[in-house]
Parts: sequence; C-alpha cells; structure tokens
Amino acid sequence: MIPIAKPIIGEDEVRAVTEVLRSGVIAEGQKVKDFEAAFSQYSGTEFAIAVNSGTAALHAALLAHGIGPGDEVITTPFSFVATANSVQFTGAKPVFADIKEDTFNIDPESIIEKITPKTKAIIPVHLYGQSADMKAIMDIAEDKNLVVIEDACQAHGATFEGKSVGSFGEGTFSFYPTKNMTTSEGGMITTNDKNVAEKARMIRSHGSKQRYLHEMLGFNLRMTDICAAIGLVQLGKIGDFNRSRINNAHYLTRDLQKINGLVLPHVDKRCGHVFHQYTVRIRGDLSRDEVVSSLNKMDIGTGIYYPLPIHKQPYYKELGYNDSLPIAEAASKEVLSLPVHPSLNKLDLETICGKMRKIMN
Ligand SMILES: *Cc1c(COP(=O)(O)O)cnc(C)c1O
Repeated sequence: MIPIAKPIIGEDEVRAVTEVLRSGVIAEGQKVKDFEAAFSQYSGTEFAIAVNSGTAALHAALLAHGIGPGDEVITTPFSFVATANSVQFTGAKPVFADIKEDTFNIDPESIIEKITPKTKAIIPVHLYGQSADMKAIMDIAEDKNLVVIEDACQAHGATFEGKSVGSFGEGTFSFYPTKNMTTSEGGMITTNDKNVAEKARMIRSHGSKQRYLHEMLGFNLRMTDICAAIGLVQLGKIGDFNRSRINNAHYLTRDLQKINGLVLPHVDKRCGHVFHQYTVRIRGDLSRDEVVSSLNKMDIGTGIYYPLPIHKQPYYKELGYNDSLPIAEAASKEVLSLPVHPSLNKLDLETICGKMRKIMN
C-alpha cells in the first residue's frame, strides 16, 4: 500500500528525544524556547509561542485578541473542523464565507458579503499548502479594522508574494504527524505583536506571567521539551521535505495532464505552494467514490479533505447553520487527494499515475 501520509522520523529525532528524557527536564523548558526562537526565524516573525496543538494555537490566538461572546469571525467551511471550533470555544460565532473554485481557499468577495458590525476577525486557511489571497484579505482587514488569524496548519514554509504565511496576520501552525513537519502533537503561534505574544503566553499557562500569580483565565496549552526536541530536528529538514513534496507534485501534474474528468491542482502565480496535499477533482463519468475505491483496491492510499463542509456537520446543523455555500459544497463531493509526501520514490509516483490513468480511461 502506498499510504496517503507518512511521517519521517529519523535516528536524529530519536537521539534528540532520548537526550531530553535523560536530562530530567521533560515538560516545558529550554528546548521549547529554542524551538520558538528557531520557528520565529523560519517564519520571519518577531515572536513564536509554542503550544500543544494547532487547535490550541487557533484558540489562544483568538483569545489573545480578546475575541469572545458577541463577536463574529469569518472563516471557510472547507477546512478541518478545528478552524471553526476554535471560534466556538471562545463564545464568538463562526460565520462561513464561500471558497474559490480553483484554489479551494476562502473567497475575498464572499468575505466582504459576510461582514457585519459584529465582525472582529477573519481566519483564512492556507488549504493543502497553498496560501489564501493574502493581498485581498489584508486589504479588507485594514479597511474594516479586522484581526487576521491565518490557519497555516497545512502550510509550513508556504509563501504569498515571497512572504511566509503566518507573517501577514497572526500565524497558527500544527505539528500533527501528517503535517509537513511534526512534533507528534504540537502547535505554534507566530506574531509581530508584542502584546499578542505576551497574552498568548499567559493563556498557554493559566493566565500567569509570574508563577502562582494569575492575572486572567488561561489553560494548560504548553508544549513539552520532548516535543520541542523533535520539532527542532524536523525544522532542520522542512526545506528538504517541502522540496520533495513540490517535486512530487510536479511529477504528478506532468504525468496526469489531459485526462478527461480529472482537474489537476491550480497554483496561483503569487503563491509558493508546499503541497501538504495534492488534491484533484473528479468530474467525469466515474464518481469520486468509484475512483477512490478502485485506487484503494490497487493499494494506493487516498484522502478526502473534506467530505462534509463544516456548516453541514451535525454539530453545526444543530446550532442552526443552514447556509448555502455552493462552491464549498460541490468541492466536498469532488475532491480527492493523492499521495505526494516525501517518502514516495519514483516507482511509487509512476505507480500512482499509471493506476490513475487506467481507472480514468
Ligand atoms: C491539522 C489542522 C488543524 C488542527 O491542528 P491540530 O494540531 O490537529 O490541533 C487546524 N486547521 C487545519 C486546517 C488543519 O489541517
């Protein structure tokens, strides 16, 4: 089976973890500080705050901006549910804008339509490793005085007009094993705003700057030194990992040209796409689900991100959401992700393309 994702953990990660375990300092310590310093440099931001998941990063970034009950936050329904749930945690209301047909990212024109006097923030998601239209989004945010929290959980190293994602507004990253780099579980907030950084650090650790002095309500969102040690090693490899993903994507795109009913990924010229996923649309005689089942029978792993848009999830329907977001809804029925991860070799890529051609012809 060629899997849809495969984390690459080497002997150097094993050594780094062992070193932390032997040191006796296994919760948040110097390794977390070192990882934060390295990550802020990597993302071109002044501050980075490590937390224990991408979800925690989104949650803390919203709280650090004081977002809560009575506020609205505009985001995309075509994402992992954590994006909207983080808004829900704060007591604010997620409001869904539709997406662009070609990139699957939030549509700035739809954002404008959803703005009300209650709107406080926008959460664009850089889906599949490609930046949302940060030019248009930052223009809207400036014009309407809105906070921008980028969900870059799938986009470590991606750029828009040469600038790193996570450095336009506040950035939020995940280090879950299937992401472009991992710490096992983990997350990071990036920001250039000193106050936001300080608030996020307090929220991470029960609202305290000074031990046993609690100035606000916080949580335990801390990363461990064990995770940070893995992250430091992985950060040294992310450039190679991403180059390999990009090369694999180029191979797939070269080989899968001009197949009826197969729409290949669209790369916006302004974007440095890091191909967290290589996602096609199935629009021919075969249904997406038929293609999936054939590929799986031929030992090729596939992913569907995401089969149900967030506003159609049972939990959100129960909350009363019944928006019509036709582009997101159509995408959820047609998308199919093929393996693109750095563990693939040339034979794997040939196999994927060969089987895909066979099925689609
Ligand atoms: C993975 C992911 C998250 C959540 O990250 P966790 O580390 O799993 O909490 C949020 N948003 C998007 C788009 C993701 O892909």
